[in-house]
Amino acid sequence: MELVPFRDEEIAILRHSIEIAEDLISNYYRISTSEWKRYRYDIQSLKDLREEEITDAAFAQIHRYSTSPQQRLRGSEHGDFFKICLQDHVIRRAIQRDPHILLLPLTTYIITHELIHVVRFAKFLQRFDTTNAEQEAEEKRVHAITFTLLDNYQIRGMSDVLKAFRDCRTMETFLGSQG
Ligand SMILES: [Zn+2]
Repeated sequence: MELVPFRDEEIAILRHSIEIAEDLISNYYRISTSEWKRYRYDIQSLKDLREEEITDAAFAQIHRYSTSPQQRLRGSEHGDFFKICLQDHVIRRAIQRDPHILLLPLTTYIITHELIHVVRFAKFLQRFDTTNAEQEAEEKRVHAITFTLLDNYQIRGMSDVLKAFRDCRTMETFLGSQG
C-alpha cells in the first residue's frame, strides 16, 4: 500500500474531528477541562509516525510508552503515555472504496473509538496487556460506547459510517514499549 500522508486540507478535517471527539468524550465521562489536560495522549497522523508505528492492517495503532516520547516528565507526572497513530493510507482506502463514506465522519468515528480506549486505560477500567478474549470483550464495549456517543450526533455522513463500521474488527492494533 502506498504511504501517502494526508494533505493540508485533510489535516484540517482531522483537527476538526479531534475537537468533536474530545468534546463528546469529556462530556460523556464528565471530565473537566483541567482534568482532561492531565490525560497523557497524543494523536498523530502518518507524517509523524515512526516506522514501527505504521501498519496496513488497521485504521490506527495505539502505542503505549512508559514515558512521553516528546515532553520531559515533570516531577508530579507519572504513568503511561498513549500515542494514537492514525494510518492515513488505510483511512483513505476506505473512503476510495465506498463513495458514501466521507472523511470527517470517518475520522470522528475512529478518533472517538481510540480515545475511549485511552480514557479506559488511563482510568484503569481496562488493562493494556490482557488476554485475547478480554481484548475482544473490550472491543465490543468500546464499539457500543462509540455508537451511543455518535448515533445522535448530527454530522453529514455519520449514519453511513456507523452502518459500515459498527462491528469493524480492524479498528486498531496495540503496540507496547519501554522507551
Ligand atoms: Zn478498538
